[in-house]
Amino acid sequence: MTDRYAVMGHPIAHSKSPFIHTRFAEQTGEDLVYEAIDVEPGTFPATVREFGANGGRGFNVTLPFKEEAFALVTERTPRAELAGAVNTVRFEPDGGISGDNTDGSGLVRDLERVLGRGLGGRRALLLGAGGAARGAIAPLLDAGVASLVIANRTEARARNLAAHFARLGAVEAVALDALPARGFDLVVNATSASLRDAVPAVSADILAADACCYDMVYASTPTAFLRWAEAAGARHIADGLGMLVEQAAEAFERWRGVRPDTAPVLAALREGVR
Ligand code: NAP
Repeated sequence: MTDRYAVMGHPIAHSKSPFIHTRFAEQTGEDLVYEAIDVEPGTFPATVREFGANGGRGFNVTLPFKEEAFALVTERTPRAELAGAVNTVRFEPDGGISGDNTDGSGLVRDLERVLGRGLGGRRALLLGAGGAARGAIAPLLDAGVASLVIANRTEARARNLAAHFARLGAVEAVALDALPARGFDLVVNATSASLRDAVPAVSADILAADACCYDMVYASTPTAFLRWAEAAGARHIADGLGMLVEQAAEAFERWRGVRPDTAPVLAALREGVR
């Protein structure tokens, strides 16, 4: 039987993951099918069991089930433990279900592509303190950023995250309206503000001269944050489409043991070829 993979979420109709993984499979010659499964809230564990019993070898998890997947799996990678969420699940030969989180490393890989080099020494600012921000902290520190400031509209959530990750490196929380003028050369927007065409309330003078501004949200036209970044003089700007493709490549490698080439798939998505 052809191995089955899927993305589970709700809603899921507009997911790009089936397109991405189908291209990866064609490119690498792997015999698999990848579908999108719309999971009604309350039915996630039953859907997972049914999928595993019917040829499912693994699946991705998206909103709103990443925390539920974290609780459901029987073993977790260290990075999934740190993220407190699971986006990649694999059914193991011994009957176990393992959970990983590839979002943060997908972000770092895409940032390195955008910058054309590593993140070593960067003074980083992370906007937001939700699940996406949490998953990015350890991978950013691991990639060598010199310091990481977390700023969130609800300041207490940023403080909680900074306290949680303080043992891993130079992490601190600052109120959005108390960010120091100038100095950040990497700003990652991990808020959902762009979905509502809004921008977190930060001043343009927080950016260093050669700043890179990255929005985890992606869209067919520049997001509100990227428009703000361009007007503020950022040297590099990018949305999160590349992160989506990179986290998928990492999941694909975990399942199939082969790393796909992300560049042509990202280019095809950009062209809107579906
Ligand atoms: P979440 O848990 O709901 O958190 C949302 C965050 O956005 C919170 O920190 C919230 O602040 C902040 N926020 C929302 N509206 C804001 C506004 N107008 N001004 C300032 N802050 C605002 O969401 P999440 O799961 O972390 O995801 C965040 C975004 O990342 C989503 O839009 C998602 O699409 C994107 N994402 C992309 C990828 C990718 O592969 N490209 C992967 C994962 C996530 P409060 O705490 O004050 O409410």
